[in-house]
Amino acid sequence: MKPRWIDFHCHLDLYREHTELIRTCELEQIAVLTMTTTPKAWRHNRDLANKYVRPALGFHPQLVAERANELALWKKLLPEARFVGEVGLDAGPKFYSSFNLQKSVFAQILQACADAGGKVLSIHSIRCAAVVLEMIEKHLPAERGTAVLHWFMGTKAEVQRAVALNCFFSVNIAMLKSLRGRELIATLPLDRILTETDGPFIEIDGRATNPVDIPTVVAALAHEKRIGVEEFAAQLVKNWTYAVGGGDNWSKY
Ligand code: MN
Repeated sequence: MKPRWIDFHCHLDLYREHTELIRTCELEQIAVLTMTTTPKAWRHNRDLANKYVRPALGFHPQLVAERANELALWKKLLPEARFVGEVGLDAGPKFYSSFNLQKSVFAQILQACADAGGKVLSIHSIRCAAVVLEMIEKHLPAERGTAVLHWFMGTKAEVQRAVALNCFFSVNIAMLKSLRGRELIATLPLDRILTETDGPFIEIDGRATNPVDIPTVVAALAHEKRIGVEEFAAQLVKNWTYAVGGGDNWSKY
């Protein structure tokens, strides 16, 4: 299994044309990791998956306050999932009141993944990069799992710390809109980058982006990193192969 393009963080189940999109991704050879935001959505997403589109078992930090009781279900389903996401922490003003509860849930998620071994996680870290890295360091050493930081906006020092912890970064086109995002992307090592759309939450040309836009994301990032598009696209597939533990393993889970 060798895809042409990588979308490592997308919410395919939130599109009305969900089923058609899954088929299109296979036709276009786009490897898509599709997030679930609650463990209740897992089985439906898993059943619709195909060779290219794989589901991740998630528990979104923005939903933890109202759904803390679903953690038991998440734990129960973990043996069925190799990919985990969207999980993490959100210290933005809207969700800060649940930050302690989020930390407790995220610690248990990381610990369960470390105990199981071999999981690949897509991690949210809005306004709390340092805390997220600290928790990864404490609960999920690199030999027990792979952490992919989604839309990471930490400082230069935090990028270095994440690299030292063997994390990957899934990068989207919205990050190019701010100077801070562009400065961050400039510091990312080429062999640690994956691409994502985070659709449908990001817009391109006034409409919700979807995985078919990944070539546009790759071209924009290649330009930013001052590297040829073909060369960058090949590097991304290489990074993905490494992050998922070999392309042939991708479709098994
Ligand atoms: Mn997301």
